[in-house]
Amino acid sequence: MKFEKKMIDIIKRTYDVKSFRFHRPEGFDYKPGQYILVSLTVEGNVMTKAFSLSSSPTEKDHIEFTKKLTGHPFSNALDNMKIGDRAVISGPFGKMTFEGEYAKIALLSGGIGITPMISICKYCTDLHLDADIVLIYSNKTENDLAFMKELDEMMHNSNNLKIVYTLTRASESWTGCRERISENMIVSEIPDYMERRFYICGAPDMVKSMEEMLTAMKIPKDMVKKEALSGY
Ligand SMILES: Cc1cc2nc3c(=O)[nH]c(=O)nc-3n(C[C@H](O)[C@H](O)[C@H](O)COP(=O)(O)OP(=O)(O)OC[C@H]3O[C@@H](n4cnc5c(N)ncnc54)[C@H](O)[C@@H]3O)c2cc1C
Repeated sequence: MKFEKKMIDIIKRTYDVKSFRFHRPEGFDYKPGQYILVSLTVEGNVMTKAFSLSSSPTEKDHIEFTKKLTGHPFSNALDNMKIGDRAVISGPFGKMTFEGEYAKIALLSGGIGITPMISICKYCTDLHLDADIVLIYSNKTENDLAFMKELDEMMHNSNNLKIVYTLTRASESWTGCRERISENMIVSEIPDYMERRFYICGAPDMVKSMEEMLTAMKIPKDMVKKEALSGY
């Protein structure tokens, strides 16, 4: 489906991450974890980029995507948009989806790779699905933690959602994990990891290293779904 819509809301998530909302067109169905293509006219040329939906299909009125702002031309054009400005959107695309089909899943997310995981977690908590979810969310610093409030709220309202935040360059006051997602972390935070389907999302390097780690842990490839946010 391809449509042109006005932006209806802009939400600042961190110092360099913003969410952009549009009315959800009638008939636009998607699965949690899917992505869209967003086209903008930048300096006279149409530019198109992929963005995972950070909204959940349970949110009927709007769709949302979330961009890490980079200072590059497309990013600046998006950042300069105002409510009422239009974008051309097509989709949905992508196979890294979850609608409750597995009893237990583990989500490994790096940085802005949190966007499809937000959609999955929101969908499962909104519908009170039985699926048991552990999300490990890695960032550099406290300031990079987009969606922490929303995730904590979901965790608070659900018995089936556990979230582990880890920061590789945390301040001294941080009491949580302080390393990259590692085999040790998975064994200690997700003791039943062999029973879970894994979902990985982040920059291509992160996705590759997580895949290699899971292979070394003897997790079969067909237990792993992934989305590399290529373009970074
Ligand atoms: C399926 C899919 C889903 C995606 N979902 C999202 C999403 O939800 N949110 C999102 O922000 N992006 C997402 N992306 C990436 C997005 O499409 C853009 O490529 C990205 O946001 C950068 O676009 P840009 O125009 O700001 O930078 P560009 O001008 O495209 O610059 C990218 C280039 O700049 C460098 N660069 C820019 N930023 C960084 C950085 N932070 N770290 C290292 N190098 C950098 C790299 O050399 C890279 O080649 C997704 C990509 C795919 C394929």
